[in-house]
Amino acid sequence: MRTYSIAIDGPSASGKSTVAKIIAKRLGYIYVDTGAMYRAFTLAVLRAGIDPKDEEKSCTLIGKINISFDSENNITLDGENVAKEVRTNEVADNVSYIASYKEIRLFLVEAQRKIAQNVSVVMDGRDIGTYVLQNADLKIFQIASAEERAKRRYLENKEKGLKTSYEECLENVNKRDYIDSHRAFCPLRPAENSVQINTTEMTIGEVVNRILQLAAERGLR
Ligand code: C5P
Repeated sequence: MRTYSIAIDGPSASGKSTVAKIIAKRLGYIYVDTGAMYRAFTLAVLRAGIDPKDEEKSCTLIGKINISFDSENNITLDGENVAKEVRTNEVADNVSYIASYKEIRLFLVEAQRKIAQNVSVVMDGRDIGTYVLQNADLKIFQIASAEERAKRRYLENKEKGLKTSYEECLENVNKRDYIDSHRAFCPLRPAENSVQINTTEMTIGEVVNRILQLAAERGLR
């Protein structure tokens, strides 16, 4: 059976995961949150007492830990559901260092490609269209202003019962944008044939409809 893939890339808190989840449900595809995988690796580094800024020591965990998703699509670290733990400030503050290490990226990219091998996927991240799934059937680059993204992250955290101020969210969004787009290997940038969607003044429903329309135009089923 022919499978399809949709890549949704963009900066932190641009609404990728919210939109990707809905699209996956509507099309009956599997949703793959690659950011959660980098976050789980970061959690493992922190739990091991390693400084995430220490590339060599962080890389010693490659091959020793297992990062995947359970049947309810929760991110797991060695079989443990860590969906909540990966959303803490400590993980958010350190994940971009971990994601800048080439060896760690190659380890996680292999797992991401394996997931997409036999099923149709909506995969969101930073390098899905440019690197992980270069032949994706549809590539979206989703953006929004830093202020709007910080506001969204602030409200999302509040809903989850996590204590972070708007200022902290804005600082984290700006910091991650900078590190993610300046790293040497697979930096955040739009894929050549991607469609850019600026969601600053769009509702979730409008973004979803736009992407579904693009998917239909390309014959994705
Ligand atoms: O998507 P999310 O904000 O949860 O991603 C957390 C971090 O993981 C990003 O800031 C980025 O550093 C890293 N990441 C990445 N490549 C991906 C997905 C996430 O570098 N494909």
